[in-house]
Amino acid sequence: MGAALASCGLRLEHSASAIGVLFSGISDGDAEEELVLEVMSTAADDSSGVRPSGFKELQQLQVSRLSTEHGLEALSFRYSESVRSTWPDDYRFQASKRSWRASIASAPDKAYVLQMATRAEERVADAVKWDLEDAKSAGSYAHRFNLYSREQAREAGGPTDDQPPCVKVAAPVACRVVKTNFPALLPVGAYCTLWPYSDAEVRKFVFNGCQDFVELAQAFFHHSAFSSSGKELVCDIQGAEQEDGSLLLIDPCILRPGKVTVSALLKGSAKDDREREDLAACLGPVVNVAADKFDKLHPKCTQLCKAFDPQRSTVKRKVGVCGLDVTCGLARG
Ligand SMILES: [Zn+2]
Repeated sequence: MGAALASCGLRLEHSASAIGVLFSGISDGDAEEELVLEVMSTAADDSSGVRPSGFKELQQLQVSRLSTEHGLEALSFRYSESVRSTWPDDYRFQASKRSWRASIASAPDKAYVLQMATRAEERVADAVKWDLEDAKSAGSYAHRFNLYSREQAREAGGPTDDQPPCVKVAAPVACRVVKTNFPALLPVGAYCTLWPYSDAEVRKFVFNGCQDFVELAQAFFHHSAFSSSGKELVCDIQGAEQEDGSLLLIDPCILRPGKVTVSALLKGSAKDDREREDLAACLGPVVNVAADKFDKLHPKCTQLCKAFDPQRSTVKRKVGVCGLDVTCGLARG
């Protein structure tokens, strides 16, 4: 996978010194290595599209082990310069984060991924809420997709108790650091996310068009665009394939137009040229990314796609990715 990604312009940084255990095996009274998080909010629901963390708001979590691992490197690819420049200029696509494998003392049988923004100004509640919101949206799309694929399997006459592989999104919790012995990396007061994700590796499924074609991920990608009426795209579909072929996703992000600004631009309500420029800058990446990339990211339809979108029209009709009843450059075919 590394070579393939490198050929797509991503720089892989295998720095041996960056991989290692930050700390491990905290025992009672060990004050030298300590990291305690407080859960501030959760993105969990009980739909079929999420894997909940099991944590509750205001719960304090003692991190018992924290390590940097090669298997999680794919989480950082979104923030490489070559990729960043092609995405919208907002937190979800631009704020680089560090990712660690974390163990929590009260849940010793599970493993988590802890993510913290590299820049101090992005380690705040207002930034982290976007991570939760995108995970929640992706989980909601996954839920709809799972219902749809079950219905398809039922109609195809398969065994009723035989569930087809499904898509789940790890539901993160937003945490605040309350005690730390790593003030440079994880300072007191900083916000981070904790994802219920035990797999050793994160694999890109739909990212920049260079990934191996994974049917379930591709069908989910297309279905999410379709079920949002082309208004949103679930981007950076990454995670792990489970034994039964199901997918567990982590840290997805949603490409969506800025609702107010897009409408304002098209109604001509922008007050001056400067505002118009700002609006165009906001609208541009959404339209361009969606129109240019849908085909690249989704080179062919799966059998499941053909059932819900036989014309593959999700981003090609007038009411396209921007969701507006105008020709926005997406009506190419
Ligand atoms: Zn398709």
